[in-house]
Amino acid sequence: MKVHNFSAGPSILPDEVLKQASDAVKNFDNLNLSLIEISHRSKNFVAVMDEATALVKKLLNLPEGYSVLFLQGGASMQFTMVAQNLLKAQNGKAAYTETGTWASKAIKEAKLFGDVNVLGSSKDKNFNYIPKGYTIPSDVDYFHCTSNNTIFGTQMHEFPDCDVPVVCDMSSDIFCRNMDYSKFDLIYAGAQKNMGPAGATLVIVKDEILGKSGRTIPTMLDYSTHIKKESMFNTPPVFAVYVSMLTLRWLDKNGGLSWIEKRNREKADMLYNEIDNNPMFVGTAAKEDRSLMNVTFLLNDESKKETFDAMWKEAGISGINGHRDVGGYRASIYNAMPVESVKILIDVMKSFTQKHG
Ligand SMILES: *Cc1c(COP(=O)(O)O)cnc(C)c1O
Repeated sequence: MKVHNFSAGPSILPDEVLKQASDAVKNFDNLNLSLIEISHRSKNFVAVMDEATALVKKLLNLPEGYSVLFLQGGASMQFTMVAQNLLKAQNGKAAYTETGTWASKAIKEAKLFGDVNVLGSSKDKNFNYIPKGYTIPSDVDYFHCTSNNTIFGTQMHEFPDCDVPVVCDMSSDIFCRNMDYSKFDLIYAGAQKNMGPAGATLVIVKDEILGKSGRTIPTMLDYSTHIKKESMFNTPPVFAVYVSMLTLRWLDKNGGLSWIEKRNREKADMLYNEIDNNPMFVGTAAKEDRSLMNVTFLLNDESKKETFDAMWKEAGISGINGHRDVGGYRASIYNAMPVESVKILIDVMKSFTQKHG
């Protein structure tokens, strides 16, 4: 039976990408060697890294002046790398929005290296909305935000204009929509939500913001180390980079971010529409801040949970249990999620209400 994978992360990848990745594990580029047993400095792997980097720049339509890196340590490592590379050694100050668990963790790390001004927090309402209307001080070293709050199902649909560098954790919505990515000075994303397997972290950084902190940064944590060596200072996560490259090829071949945004909106609209119109369910995120990627909802009558759970399992749906901090359900409908799978979930919701409403 086909399984409809709504996992929040690691999460669904396109079928054709999984097929190509598994072939390459056996025999990569007709070398009769595995992708994961050849040198990362071989011309075949260097070509993979170059193509992945070029595809990121093309898909995001980045102007000159940005470096694209594939690092390790997850998005969580970026919480500290961002702070160490950008916070001034003397009186370093940064502004952060606190929109969920990941944002809170980023704040905690930055506080180890400087002053953190939390400009807006939605903690008072269990992070069910995106704070707005704050002013970013002009004397901070950077402003940090989280574009999509994976656990709580909220997403920033607008980004503030400001004079200081803008840093964004896009782990769970990178490549989900078309926008002006040159507004950002540093973007990072763990691969495993919307791009590839766990093990690689994409970092996109505007070169001119680096080298200004006056801080001694450990070699591995210094972006300039990795820029100089084109993500090959040490052994890169070859498999994760390769599969990410395949996903980016898939995106590019199908029409890039305009294509995927249209499809993502179609899926999200369908599902939110069902949540809003079906009396058995209620959404948890503020409507204007709803995520295109993680759709969070609750049952109005918790006593029917077992019945609903049995129905979606029966339909081959996997991975929609909500995060413990929100409860209920979370349907993650990342780029690779087919429209058909979302329709199956909606059918289950409808028939649950018909039979048990
Ligand atoms: C998953 C996630 C992280 C953590 O990613 P790791 O790669 O596991 O460190 C950080 N930020 C956001 C928004 C996430 O969704």
